[in-house]
Parts: sequence; C-alpha cells; structure tokens
Amino acid sequence: MNTLPRPLVETVVGPTPGPTLTISILMHGDEVCGLAARDFLLGPELRLKRGRVHVATLNREACEADGGPRRFVNADLNRLWGDQELPDSYEGKRIAEIRPLFLQSDAILDIHSMPEDAATFSLVSEERPESLAVARLLCPAISRIVVAPAPANRGRALFQTTRLPLSVPIVVVECGKHGSSESDVTARAAVAALLAGFDMLETTDAAASLPQSRYYRIEREHKSEHGDVSFIGAIDQFDPLPTDRPFAFDGTNPILAKPGQSLLLKRPTRKPGDEAFALVRELTADEISTLFSLHS
Ligand SMILES: [Zn+2]
Repeated sequence: MNTLPRPLVETVVGPTPGPTLTISILMHGDEVCGLAARDFLLGPELRLKRGRVHVATLNREACEADGGPRRFVNADLNRLWGDQELPDSYEGKRIAEIRPLFLQSDAILDIHSMPEDAATFSLVSEERPESLAVARLLCPAISRIVVAPAPANRGRALFQTTRLPLSVPIVVVECGKHGSSESDVTARAAVAALLAGFDMLETTDAAASLPQSRYYRIEREHKSEHGDVSFIGAIDQFDPLPTDRPFAFDGTNPILAKPGQSLLLKRPTRKPGDEAFALVRELTADEISTLFSLHS
C-alpha cells in the first residue's frame, strides 16, 4: 500500500499564531478512521485560521501488515504509557520519538475505533483534569463523555499517561466500527469540532443548538478468567443492563451488573487474562458538578 502517509508527523500551519493541537491516529493499526481525519486535516477543505495542527501516525507498520491491518505488530502500543521502562522494540521507539511533540501540544486527540458496530463516545482520565473541558468541545460530534479511573489491571493508555504532565489534555474518541464510513465521518467531525472549539477555523458551520453532553464513569473492567466470555442476547451500549439475571458468562460463571450499569465496550477474548468488557454508569447531576468543581 502506498496511499498511507509516510512521515510520523505531518503539520498544518495557520497564518497567525495560536494553539498547537496534535491528532494521533493509528495507535491501533486497524483503526483506519484516523486516516479519514488525516486526509481532512491535510486536504483542501480545511481552512485553518490560526495555530498549528500535527497529525501523528503512530503505528503505520501494524496498519500495513501482511494480510491486512492489525491492532499491533509486537505489543499493544496503547498499554505502554505508564512508568515502566520503555521496551527496546518498535513500540518503545515510537513512544520515545513522539513524546516531545506531545509535550508541546495544547491538546491531544487520540482517534480510535472498535471491532464491532459501536456507539461513539469520548474517553478521558479522571486523573487529568484538563481533558474534560476539551472533551466538551467535541460535543457537536460526540456527546457521550466517559470518565475513567486509573487502570487497575493493565498498562496505561495514552489518555492516562504518566509520561506527560497532567496539564496536557488528552481525549480519546471512539468513532464506531473499524473501517466503516460512519467512523470516518465521526473522526472528521470530532477533529472539526476540536478545531472550532479552539477557535482555529476560518469558517465554522457548527450547529447553533448543540446536543447536551452526557457523562459516564467506568465502574468495572473485566479480564476474562476462562478465555471465553459470551454475552446473552443483543446488548446495546449505554443502555442499562438487567440486574436480576446475568448479562454474560465467563466460561460457566454468570456475570451480573449493578443497578445503573451499562456496557461501554467489549472485546473478543481468546485466553484467560484477555480484556473482555468495561461497564459504565451515567453520572448524576451532583456527580457531574463535583467533577467540574474538582477540575476547575
Ligand atoms: Zn484503539
């Protein structure tokens, strides 16, 4: 494939000074809606009023792997953003290479998608206060904001990194299913909303009446104990799960939800220890105001 962008970083510069934003794409090589965002940013439609926008293409090798795009080559690039020593691997080098650019950024938008049909949402860490305000700017494109606690049983993702100061806002956007045209549209819309939110666009057709943001918190991340997690019936993301009966089985063990919990995401599991699913609960008005008072 020769159509992919070659350099690690490509930059669009506006005519006057302003914020520096970084859009990171292909953290997972099969999440190709990032390329739609990249093409939008570097294409003729975009008229940047001020500032600069970097596009960082993080895992091109996984995207161009033999047999089609893959999530990663050796190891998940998005589990290495904690304090551990960087491995002497492709992924380790990539992180060392991109970190200086992230350090100079006023905000980072990290574009992702899902293996199956999926609702769109943004994801921020409750440890990184500034991220929440940036997630709100995306509301014209993505109205659900999920707040995640520090990861308990896996490596840190970029949006939870300890490799960058807490003052750098980092927002993940989950744009829908890998390779779908809807995910391309959402990725472009998220970028446009971010730029409009930072007042960096020459013209903006942002809707006058914006949808209301809805806030959720991750309450449970389940790693498979038996390697095969099966769900009962069709489960819609963000719809409350039943509490009087299991919604899934891990092997033969029933899994029950607590009141108000709903499915955020699920992943195919092959062996014990694989990440299987995450549950969220919608925050109450009081909880939302507490969140914002802590973070302002
Ligand atoms: Zn991803």
